[in-house]
Amino acid sequence: MSLKIYNSLTHTKEEFKPLVKGRVGIYVCGPTVYSHSHIGHAKSYVSFDVIVRYLRYRGYNVTYVQNITDVGHLLGDLDEGEDRLLRQARLEQKHPMEIAETYARSYFEDMDTLNILRPDISPRATGHIIEQIEIIKTLIDKGYAYEVNGSVYFDVAKDAEYGKLSGRNTEEAEPGTRVEVRAEKRHPNDFALWKKASPEHIMQWSSPWGMGFPGWHIECSAMSMKYLGETFDIHGGGMDNQFPHHECEIAQSECATGKPFVRYWIHNNLVTVGGKKMSKSLGNVILLKDLFKKYHPLIIRFFILQSHYRSTLDFTDEALEGAAKGWEKLMNTMRNIKLGLLKKDGLKRGTQGTQIDLNGFKSAFLEAMDDDFNTAHAIAVLFDITHEVNSALSEGKVSKVLLEKVDSILSELGGTVLGIIPVRLEPQSDAERSLEADLIQLIIDLRDEVRAQKLWSLSDKIRNGLTKLGIVVEDKKEGTIWRRTH
Ligand SMILES: [Zn+2]
Repeated sequence: MSLKIYNSLTHTKEEFKPLVKGRVGIYVCGPTVYSHSHIGHAKSYVSFDVIVRYLRYRGYNVTYVQNITDVGHLLGDLDEGEDRLLRQARLEQKHPMEIAETYARSYFEDMDTLNILRPDISPRATGHIIEQIEIIKTLIDKGYAYEVNGSVYFDVAKDAEYGKLSGRNTEEAEPGTRVEVRAEKRHPNDFALWKKASPEHIMQWSSPWGMGFPGWHIECSAMSMKYLGETFDIHGGGMDNQFPHHECEIAQSECATGKPFVRYWIHNNLVTVGGKKMSKSLGNVILLKDLFKKYHPLIIRFFILQSHYRSTLDFTDEALEGAAKGWEKLMNTMRNIKLGLLKKDGLKRGTQGTQIDLNGFKSAFLEAMDDDFNTAHAIAVLFDITHEVNSALSEGKVSKVLLEKVDSILSELGGTVLGIIPVRLEPQSDAERSLEADLIQLIIDLRDEVRAQKLWSLSDKIRNGLTKLGIVVEDKKEGTIWRRTH
């Protein structure tokens, strides 16, 4: 079995072969830190988190770099408009670096909550101005860039390959594009590498072309190549960044080094809200901090991974409720398994217990993940496993040895790889684990006696008390069962 990745550069699923055997360098465009993260950020960074986790699970030594953009990302994306951080600093009456710090912390807090592993390196654009200036100098020396009035532009006409990623090489001038900016460029498609700063511009640095600040695209070229080399394995980002951002990254990096920049481009699709594009102007941006108040963060993660990263994800309350039900099902099975492990082996001596083809399920899971990280299919395999183990448990035909194996495989695939099964389900110690379960069972047994004496109000009181503690009690024909709700 080999891992196949859909490469946006070639528009085909290709077998993944890293540049150096056993190692993978991956760069993913990080957030521009001027506001709290929304569900779109969650989709992107959960998807790349699973990609990194899976590469590691497959034995690769992965270096994961994800930048923090704290300068140069303009409102218009096309060398126009105010710097997003500066605008927010003005609105909040704070220093831009305070804005960067506030929202970078908020970002990591939300990503940690979503069980996203931190990147190995989180470089900030403002910490890499020298590296960016160096690349711009090289591009000017090689004739790919030119300076006008203290700004430097990339000369798109000099790069015959410009447009090879997105199939686009022209950009529509956005309404309101200033005439002076267009006049500075030799061609409207040329993009800024360095922008001259007006004296009142707070974030500016000295350069061979005077005081200014870097363009957004050059940041990613500088930071990715610094930590991963001039050619590296995987570059990821949102589909909306294919053009112009990634197209420009390729152009400036390859013209500067004369080498291929990235071997596999992975693009993650966007989130829609009730079928509509999510945007500030439509007022339908869903912030993660609000969502966390309504749903367990792992339900959001589960919801995202239920669809493939290249599909759009439509957010509706119903869809999230559906995901919540699915995730709870998975959690209940995990709890039942843990509970089963605490009990004495229910099988009579010499009885053959249920067999589950765990190796077969594991292969199916790996096959799904090898097929361009198909998490939707991989989750379906987890449910196939839970289906079998649940019926075996309800029939009392499951051996402890098998339960242990199921527990370990679900924790491995659903926990380590997909990150949807929380670690906290793992008991802290055997003593604590059995004491808690024993105490709950003792209360249930006492309640059964109370019921046998028809003391209904006392029995209800016990049940309500347990519900408040997050333990649901159900009276069934075959006896009383209980499960946790969180
Ligand atoms: Zn980028």
